Amino acid sequence: MLDKKINILGAGLCGSLLSIMMAKQRYSVTVREKRSDPRKNHGSAGRSINLAMSAKGINALKHAGIFEQIEPLLMPMKGRMLHFQDGREELQPYGQYDHEFIYSVSRLRLNHLLIDAAEEIGVEIKFQHTIESFDKEKNVNFKSNEGGYKLTAKNLLVTDGAGSMMRRSFNGSSPILPQEDILPHSYKELTIPADDNGSFKLTEKALHVWPRGQFMLIALPNPDGDFTLTLFMPTKGENSFDRLKNNHQIQKFFEKYFSDILILIPNLIEQFQENPTGILGTVKCKHWHLNDHFLLIGDAAHAMVPFHAQGMNSAFDDCVVLDSIVKKYDTWGEIFKEFEIKQKKNANAIQAMALDNYIEMRDGVLDPKFALKKELSFRLEKDFPTYFIPRYSMVMFHNEIPYSVSYQRGEIQKNILNELTINADNIDSIDYRSAEKVIKQELTPL
Ligand SMILES: Cc1cc2nc3c(=O)[nH]c(=O)nc-3n(C[C@H](O)[C@H](O)[C@H](O)COP(=O)(O)OP(=O)(O)OC[C@H]3O[C@@H](n4cnc5c(N)ncnc54)[C@H](O)[C@@H]3O)c2cc1C
Repeated sequence: MLDKKINILGAGLCGSLLSIMMAKQRYSVTVREKRSDPRKNHGSAGRSINLAMSAKGINALKHAGIFEQIEPLLMPMKGRMLHFQDGREELQPYGQYDHEFIYSVSRLRLNHLLIDAAEEIGVEIKFQHTIESFDKEKNVNFKSNEGGYKLTAKNLLVTDGAGSMMRRSFNGSSPILPQEDILPHSYKELTIPADDNGSFKLTEKALHVWPRGQFMLIALPNPDGDFTLTLFMPTKGENSFDRLKNNHQIQKFFEKYFSDILILIPNLIEQFQENPTGILGTVKCKHWHLNDHFLLIGDAAHAMVPFHAQGMNSAFDDCVVLDSIVKKYDTWGEIFKEFEIKQKKNANAIQAMALDNYIEMRDGVLDPKFALKKELSFRLEKDFPTYFIPRYSMVMFHNEIPYSVSYQRGEIQKNILNELTINADNIDSIDYRSAEKVIKQELTPL
């Protein structure tokens, strides 16, 4: 029989949702969290201010029975609004069907509601309890406002995020053997305020992208009429954060590449100088668990770069998968093992797709063949729906398709699209008869 007491470490997005699922399975759950109660202070809950939520995230909220509470926070975004350097704008729909939206959601408000829902069903959350280390005797050492203490590591669910202290205590050692690959690009968040009437200055029905080759800006709407704008660019070198130090450099850079933004943000230079620059990276581990002592979940196990907007979504998917395995076994060691087998290949796949998507968003969309391939992939999806679903749609709209399958099929589909468009400039010049043959030869029905 499994011990009916569970400890979760970290009350971020993954830990708080997981605590709800475990409490619903009648576990007595205690969560320990480094921060003070985020409902009582106004700072950001962590990194980005808002997040894009898609099928796997929504499925997890439904699975936990809390979607109705969260739904009012969700702001639908139909596509990417591209802002080119010459001032042209173009809306590229994400999908082709009416239900194919992704949603912008405030990280802070989402985290508040998850914590509220957890406490309502009896989860105990201890704020300002910080993991300091994991020792050789297999204890987790904590610092808290009541002093330091130890917790024996037994069936611990570890959700302490991308900078996980639990994971890092295994740097260079088995079985976790973590690896952190820092991207040579960083990010900075800025705010496009609402206009004088409290309305959005850009359409709020889209995720805005200003692609500029080696760097880009993106903006997601917030419920109060403002947008969170994020600049992603190299950390060093030409056109890098390193070269944007003084007010003059910042002003000149925005005048050259993003002149429309200068009009939208009156205090841009001030914001740029004050807001921190964040690093981005991919975390991989050889293993995610140590026997039945602990399991790493969410960002702690597999943080990724944010360009497919799937970090939270995949962390929520982890919660669903773990919740579905828990009843199958009598020991946590077996549960942790099956979880790792099920989710590791999916984490590897979405991490690779997230890195790919950075190149697509900042550069790929500028390729004239990009729009043609997109148009062709929608047409193939319409005509051969069981064979061909665009990779982006598989990841964002199809909860039932695991990331590993989206990745494998996506690679095959990429070759098919390249082959069919190699000598074509528009959809009518594609040899469409050969398309069906190639698709049915290369892909199995889903
Ligand atoms: C710029 C940016 C944009 C992003 N955009 C998206 C997006 O659009 N869509 C998407 O799906 N994902 C996005 N993500 C990823 C998403 O933020 C993460 O995947 C998600 O927050 C993971 O949840 P988590 O609970 O694993 O980690 P976190 O949400 O980071 O939670 C970890 C928790 O552990 C606590 N903690 C940390 N250290 C300790 C300690 N020593 N002791 C105790 N507690 C501790 C932290 O305070 C925190 O509450 C983005 C990330 C970034 C950086």
